[in-house]
Amino acid sequence: MGATWFWPDMQPEVLALVTQLGLPVDAQFEAGHWTFERRADLPAVQAAGYASSPPAMRLRGGMMALIDALVEEIPLSSQRLGHRVTALSRHDDRVHIQAIQTSGERVDVDVGKVLLALPPRLVAEQMAFSPPLPPALQRAWQQCATWMAPHAKYVAVYPTPFWRDHGLSGAARSAAGPMVEIHDASASQHGALFGFLGVPAIWRATVERADMMRRCREQLRRLFGAQASHPVAEFLQDWAQDPHTATEADRTSSGGHPRSPRAEPDSGAWAGRLFGAGSEWSRTSPGYLAGAMDAASTAVEALLSHRLDP
Ligand SMILES: Cc1cc2nc3c(=O)[nH]c(=O)nc-3n(C[C@H](O)[C@H](O)[C@H](O)COP(=O)(O)OP(=O)(O)OC[C@H]3O[C@@H](n4cnc5c(N)ncnc54)[C@H](O)[C@@H]3O)c2cc1C
Repeated sequence: MGATWFWPDMQPEVLALVTQLGLPVDAQFEAGHWTFERRADLPAVQAAGYASSPPAMRLRGGMMALIDALVEEIPLSSQRLGHRVTALSRHDDRVHIQAIQTSGERVDVDVGKVLLALPPRLVAEQMAFSPPLPPALQRAWQQCATWMAPHAKYVAVYPTPFWRDHGLSGAARSAAGPMVEIHDASASQHGALFGFLGVPAIWRATVERADMMRRCREQLRRLFGAQASHPVAEFLQDWAQDPHTATEADRTSSGGHPRSPRAEPDSGAWAGRLFGAGSEWSRTSPGYLAGAMDAASTAVEALLSHRLDP
């Protein structure tokens, strides 16, 4: 329901990683005509579209295949899932981390250094630092928009990719909505279509989930015919409403690509202890998966270059 594509021509490091992990990839399906819709009360138009260039690739099994493969390399004893970090404080030569488990129980951990593998804005708005972060850094992290945080995605699953039988690629553009951009998301066992909602996050928040899904289904019927009215499964993920992705500032943002802020404090109690490793800190691909890889590599190098004991 989040990231779908990577672009090997522009992001060879992502291809190198998925190849190293032995994960199968498929090109985004694009054969056939596109569907265009200007208004909901006018028939949709089918016309020759264009193949995306450079080509977009998908991981078989979705991006979770990459997460699952990476997690396998992390010892279970080092994993703490369902822990929300709420506060970080400096004590002697250690960093004390406070977290809340999904059960509501508080957990305390002492560590030497911290990699922040999440959007800078979440760190600035949702984690308390003692002593506080340098004000300019705190401001820069708070002002850094999380690229896709304002977005929502809808997926409808069908027994087969029936639109392909009618010479359609499954790709569509709509000015009527609620989805503005739709693509084929089929896997080997079933057909699927997914779309990005074009309705702003603050309006989406006023619409019942079931109603929004009904409107998306109805739009797919307009675009691809009656068969599209009967998905065997459907999903809606509104990332703007996810407190572990978006903040209030993201809900009113247009979601442009951020300019990466400084990833670590250069002075004060936090220097050499705290390293931004989330995608938005990447200098090369902020906001993308490739950015998450780049920011993480840079942060690990920075972490290793600081001696633990000052
Ligand atoms: C709808 C959508 C479509 C996208 N499509 C693409 C695409 O096609 N290609 C592409 O390259 N990128 C795409 N992206 C962007 C891509 O998902 C991000 O670049 C990537 O997920 C960033 O990875 P990250 O590890 O930096 O942060 P995240 O993936 O945001 O991971 C941060 C993690 O930290 C956790 N967390 C948050 N707060 C706390 C806390 N207080 N304590 C502990 N943990 C916390 C979160 O739950 C999450 O698991 C898309 C994003 C969205 C939303």
